Order: sequence, then structure tokens, then C-alpha cells
Amino acid sequence: MTDLTELTIAEAKKGLSKKEFSAVELTTSYINNMQAKHKLNAFVKETPELALQQAAASQSKIDSGLGGELEGIPLGIKDLFCTKGVDTTACSQILKGFVPPYESTVTSKLLSAGANFLGKLNLDEFAMGGSNETSAFGPVINPWSKEVPLVPGGSSGGSAAAVAANMCAAATGTDTGGSIRQPSAFCGVTGIKPTYGRCSRYGIIAFASSLDQAGPIAKTVEDCAIMLKVMSGHDAKDATSAKIAVPDFTKVLGQSIKGMRVGIPKEYRVPSLNEEVASYWDKAAQMLKEQGVEIVDISLPHTKYALAVYYIIAPAEASSNLARYDGLRYGNRVEGKTLDEMYVNSRTAGFGREVKRRIMIGTYVLSAGYYDAYYLKAQKVRRLIRDDFIEAFNHCDIILTPTAPSAAFAIGDKSMQQDPINMWLNDIFTVSVSLAGLPAMSLPIGLNSKGLPLGMQLIGRAFDEESVLKAASILEKQVAFRGVK
Ligand code: GLN
Repeated sequence: MTDLTELTIAEAKKGLSKKEFSAVELTTSYINNMQAKHKLNAFVKETPELALQQAAASQSKIDSGLGGELEGIPLGIKDLFCTKGVDTTACSQILKGFVPPYESTVTSKLLSAGANFLGKLNLDEFAMGGSNETSAFGPVINPWSKEVPLVPGGSSGGSAAAVAANMCAAATGTDTGGSIRQPSAFCGVTGIKPTYGRCSRYGIIAFASSLDQAGPIAKTVEDCAIMLKVMSGHDAKDATSAKIAVPDFTKVLGQSIKGMRVGIPKEYRVPSLNEEVASYWDKAAQMLKEQGVEIVDISLPHTKYALAVYYIIAPAEASSNLARYDGLRYGNRVEGKTLDEMYVNSRTAGFGREVKRRIMIGTYVLSAGYYDAYYLKAQKVRRLIRDDFIEAFNHCDIILTPTAPSAAFAIGDKSMQQDPINMWLNDIFTVSVSLAGLPAMSLPIGLNSKGLPLGMQLIGRAFDEESVLKAASILEKQVAFRGVK
């Protein structure tokens, strides 16, 4: 019998409906695989009993013909989503022991559609990072690692690694500046960050509220479309969620892209761009051209400011969002003689280095005297970055870029550890999209000379995930990428 964990969601749905296997059998295969691969450190909390209960309930629904869109499909959930009755930590010491009394909107939509949850996935602490190394639970190992253990990317490193290693059929991720796309690229899987406002942020632990978006990480473009359809939609509990109808994202897959205009931004040929990545970028453009698209050169002139702007705005919002973790209301408390001392002790013990660094930067740029010089200026440039995209989309329908300037690097890489700026430079192709609130997807394009996966990014107009998914489905077919093995 084929290994059930190798099936895509679309294939598993077919198998379940044809009764080739049961939901419990499918879930059991994933549980076995999840437990056999503990050394990857992808899951920080496993909930096999819960998953089996949910699978049994799914089977009854399938038997009576009442199954939902994801009936019986086993998922992993990034530990940034509040899950009712199941520990939710954001991979921070400060939230140790926090068990949410409610479910996030996105996860409750997935549950209503019949998915079952295998457990919570590792991430960079509070989603701050690009390598999963800032997690209080330790780093995740990229399943593509060869001689030395490699990072899976971040912050949704656990999600991407678990999908790549067939430890779950798909996973939820969140993306503030690249956290769905960059780990997808590093692990050879597919992920989409939808338009800001497409998915509700209710019940997702906040990092930078004007940037955070949920999205799926899955094995294929089709699986991403299936997941995204369920995860999306307006929510009265999140004032920033958009009142825009959710299309059936799967309908456009495989449709002709003849005549579509694909933009190539000249500013993305940065000095840190690895040669192999650059040549795959040309190859991807060529593949799309063979399918009848028109390749157009475009300019996004404010790209050079994107990282600076992001690393002002995201920490500013983070410093405000994280002020709630004072040792009183949630999770871990370290006592002190006075209230102030208790705050200091709890935060000193509870937050890791990267989170402290961001809180300090954020507090600084928001402080009187510096607010105008940094924060306000950054907001103005953010608008210019958004306007660049609006102008570019007068000349093209989607934009093609690499997802990250290089392949996955080693855990503990010195250049990254000694200078956090090097780590931040990894977000160069993803942050401007987040600042502009646009949808973007990463899909595997091939392997580099070391046998490691590389990803390409497709960016769309606001709320036009369909063009992104359509083009991605065509490119995916051309590439015929094979997963980790
Ligand atoms: N790597 C980026 C950061 O550290 C993006 C993280 C994210 O998207 N959550 O901020």
C-alpha cells in the first residue's frame, strides 16, 4: 500500500470518499510519521488522541455523506494560533502554561470544515525571526539537511518542515514579513500569504498587527487553494478583515495564462542574490513565456528602503502588542518584591534575545523625539512602497521574483548570529509585499548544486490571489518538483 502521508490533500480527499482508506487510518499514518521524526523538532505539542477522536467523527460524517471541505484531513497548526484547551505558547517562555479558553477564527474554520489537528508547530519566538532559531523550544531541523543540520527558515519553520517531511497533510502559517514564503522556499514546499484582510487575525497572537496575515503551507498549489478557501473570509471579530467575497480558489487552477503580463522588477537584482537563484529566476520567466505570458520589465524604485521601513514598523507594533505580557495576565510569572520588580523579572526570564531587541527598537522609534524621525517617516515610505506596486500593476498582472536570496543555511551560522542584520537581509524579497499588503506565493523551482530547494515568489494585486494561484499552478506543472526523499 502507498504511504498515506505522501498523498496531497486533493488525493487524500478522493481516497477517503472512495473508501480506499478511512480517516482514522490516514490520521494514524501521520501520527506514526510525526512520532518517528521527533528529531526534526517540528512539533512542540502533539495531540494524537484529539486527532484520532476528530478522525473518527470525520469518518461518520463521510459515511453519511455530510463531510466538509477538509473532512478527515490531518493538519499541523503553527503555535501562534490560539487553540481552545491546547497549550499555545508562541514558542516563548513567557506564555508557558497558557491554555486559551477560545479558538482562533482561522482554526475554528478549519475544524468546521472537518480537519483534524495533530498538534502545534514550532516557530521563531512570537514569529520574530527567519530561521526558527529564536524559538524557546530550540531550532527545527530542515528535512533537506545533509552533512550539517540546516534551518527550515522562519518564522513558520515548524510548519514548512512538517509539511516537507510528511508529518501533516498541510499546516497553518503566518506571515508578517515573509514567514510563510521563506520557510516554504527553504523546505521545498508551497505557501501563500493572502492579501492583508483576507483571513481573520482573531485569536492569532499578534506580532505586528498591520502586517500579520495567516495562510497555508502545503505540498501543492492545489492544496494551498483548498486550504485558503476554508481559512478566508470576513470576521466580525477582526475589524481589519475584509468584507470581500471569497472565491473558489481551486476553479482557476490549470487555466490558460496566455496573454498574462508578468513583471520582473529590476531592483530585485541585489548584490546578495545568489547566482543559482538568479539563473532559476530567468528559467522561471522563460517557462512562463513558453506558456504564452508576456514578460515585462518593471521598476519598484523604493525597494531599497523596504527592509529599513519594515524593521521600524514591525518592532514598533510589536513593542506595543507585547506590552500585555507582564507576568500578571498570561503564562509565566517570576515573583519580585514589588510590582515593578515582578514585571522586570517576568520579562527578563520570559522573553528571548531577539524579542527583547525588537521591543527595545520599537520603544525607541515610538518615543517622543524619535517618533517623527523614524516611525512617521517609515509610514510615509511604506505608502511609497505600496504606490510602487500600484504603478507596476498598470503594466503587469503578476510579479515574479525569487523568494529568498539563497537556499537554507546552517543552524548556528556565524555570520547570521554575529550580526542580526545579515539575518534580516534574508527578508529582502518578501517584506515589501507585506508592507503593501499584497498576496504572494512561494513555490519550489528546483534544487541548487548542493541539492537544496529554491523557491520563486509570485505577487498579485490586492485580493487577486486567483491570478497568483493560476500562474503558480502552471509553473508548478512545468517544474515538476519532487519532494524531499
Ligand atoms: N523574518 C521576518 C522577521 O523576523 C519575518 C517574520 C514573519 O514574517 N513573522 O520579522
